[in-house]
Amino acid sequence: MRCPFCRHSDSRVVDSREAEEGAAIRRRRACSECGRRFTTMEEASLRVRKRSGATEPFSRAKVIVGVRKACQGRPVRSDDLALLAERVEETVRSSGSAEVAAEDVGRAILGPLRELDEVAYLRFASVYLAFESLADFEVAIAALRADAGQSSEAAGAPLAESSRAAGPELGAAGLTRGPHLAAAPGLRAAAGP
Ligand SMILES: [Zn+2]
Repeated sequence: MRCPFCRHSDSRVVDSREAEEGAAIRRRRACSECGRRFTTMEEASLRVRKRSGATEPFSRAKVIVGVRKACQGRPVRSDDLALLAERVEETVRSSGSAEVAAEDVGRAILGPLRELDEVAYLRFASVYLAFESLADFEVAIAALRADAGQSSEAAGAPLAESSRAAGPELGAAGLTRGPHLAAAPGLRAAAGP
């Protein structure tokens, strides 16, 4: 590793430790020419491929920006968003690929966001899954209600009264794998313009 101070091409590692909870390694290096020290970070490459074909580094901050919009006015804390972004990164990294589609990032957001706040989830899903009509919302809400019924923990959820259209046979899987996914216009909410 080249020294950033004197441009000497050789340095030695004087300390090496895990960072980002094991996702990265931080190394302290000393230049063998000028003796000054600097730090390097090593982590598995993860790039996001946008619909335009361009790629950019995966960014938790971008995930948070996208999700925060959907969370406006909702009782969601910054800590919750940080944790969500962490889970999203874990999910997309677990594919093992160095490059993932923006759609995959959006899909990875749906699950944790749904656990966090159902209204924010519906907002996000309506953009990500390109809801086109009330019927799309009804299917999504029915899926939420069906799951709430199974776990019985969200019995008093505010969504419970907002739709009585579709039956409980429409599970959550139907939403995330539904026909809209193929037509989804990229990850507008999460990846920005
Ligand atoms: Zn140097």
